[in-house]
Amino acid sequence: MINKIKELEKISRLLDSGQSQRDKWNAEVLDYSNTFINKLDSSKAYFTSEENGKDIYDLDITEQPTELSTLLESTSKNIDEVGINPASGGHMGYIPGGGLYPSALGDYIAAVNNRYAGVFFAAPGAVRLENMLIRWMCKLMGYPETSTGNLTSGGSIANLVAIVSARESFNLKARDFEKAVIYLSEQAHHSIQKAIRIAGLSEAHIRYIPLDEGLRLSVNLLEKAIIEDKENGLIPFFINASFGTTNTGAIDPINPIAEIASKHKLWFHVDAAYGGFFKLVAEMSSKFKGIEKADSITLDPHKTLFLPFGTGTILMKDKEKLLKAYHFLADYMQDTIEADEEISPADISPELTKHFRGMRMWLPLKLYGVKPFRASLEEKLYLTRHFYNEIKQTKGFEVGPEPELSVAMFRYIPSNQDANSFNKKLIQAIQKDGRIFLSSTTVNGVFWIRVAVVIFRTHLEQMDLLLKIINEKVEELSN
Ligand SMILES: *Cc1c(COP(=O)(O)O)cnc(C)c1O
Repeated sequence: MINKIKELEKISRLLDSGQSQRDKWNAEVLDYSNTFINKLDSSKAYFTSEENGKDIYDLDITEQPTELSTLLESTSKNIDEVGINPASGGHMGYIPGGGLYPSALGDYIAAVNNRYAGVFFAAPGAVRLENMLIRWMCKLMGYPETSTGNLTSGGSIANLVAIVSARESFNLKARDFEKAVIYLSEQAHHSIQKAIRIAGLSEAHIRYIPLDEGLRLSVNLLEKAIIEDKENGLIPFFINASFGTTNTGAIDPINPIAEIASKHKLWFHVDAAYGGFFKLVAEMSSKFKGIEKADSITLDPHKTLFLPFGTGTILMKDKEKLLKAYHFLADYMQDTIEADEEISPADISPELTKHFRGMRMWLPLKLYGVKPFRASLEEKLYLTRHFYNEIKQTKGFEVGPEPELSVAMFRYIPSNQDANSFNKKLIQAIQKDGRIFLSSTTVNGVFWIRVAVVIFRTHLEQMDLLLKIINEKVEELSN
């Protein structure tokens, strides 16, 4: 037996690499990272390819080891140079992106020390660090001391946590679901609908409240719908407002909705996954009026705090409501409560064992300080307005509503072709070019091209290049 153990130990020790091996790997990864980042200025925001990364299959899992250099080469070719490049300043299509470098170091540290950040007893320092970040965000939103929150993997899970908390807080049981009513605008993010289904609430009524001319939820129609539903014996319980719709960047009227929610005693959730961190910009403050009245708020540090993917946030004004929905004590966890000076992430989220996400958020915020984040967000607002004004003044173009945040919509109106099909060709031509990546959307049957400015690497240079590309492509397509 002992011999067998020793034999196995010899092989299993391969998993604990010594320093010289680690140094070698670190150097190779560092070299890869530097090449990747230094090339960003000249590389594409969108790569079209026939292969679409298929050769990654050549590196399927095997009994024998493979050299790191082989893996990194394949990563560059089959992963980095296909599809959208969200690290690029030219990525102005979908909302998330960026990926601050210190976050990579944070992930590295968190993976090396591998603290068990879900439970205070196990990792008091790590839990304190995450709760400190939560408190910073609660304060930013104007939340009281009784608030809390959780770092989730993204905004979708944060929205799910909010809906489940509201369901539990209203004590809704299966027999009530058919009567429950949820209110949202037609422009609410689809993760809300997904969360409703996952939360078991498919049978609930979903009221899509029509939009005003700025594509914001219409408050009067909201209150009318609630009153009507109550009169019909239904149970209105949840209102979702978007602080920045993903599609057009419209901000639902937060304070008036908060007042309606409070008057009719509904749960008020603000999905600020895209727009929340614009609170850092002083000029935007008034638009946030009333957000502190929301029962829950979704933020997405992997969007407007420029973190790499995998960090969202749910904030809850009353921590008891999160505990009610998620606290669960297993017998084998009985050692853990005694020492709890701080709320544990596991007590207020669906997760138990989890990534120590706080490290990837704390490191950049501390290494840079908040100032450059504030400046970068304000820069994005101005860049969007700059683009909007320029394209509005260019002959032949039509624009969407004045941008409230950093999303603008435009389309070209050709003199002798159908506008929808022309703009479809235009977006395809821009994407094929790839230097800048944009996406499109349809609002009330009209095909629009959207520009979403959310990457920290997007500056005036990329906006001007975008204007140049749009004009070039319109000319090509017109001839
Ligand atoms: C992106 C987004 C979400 C979903 O967040 P993920 O982090 O992608 O899961 C939800 N709501 C809004 C408004 C968003 O922009």
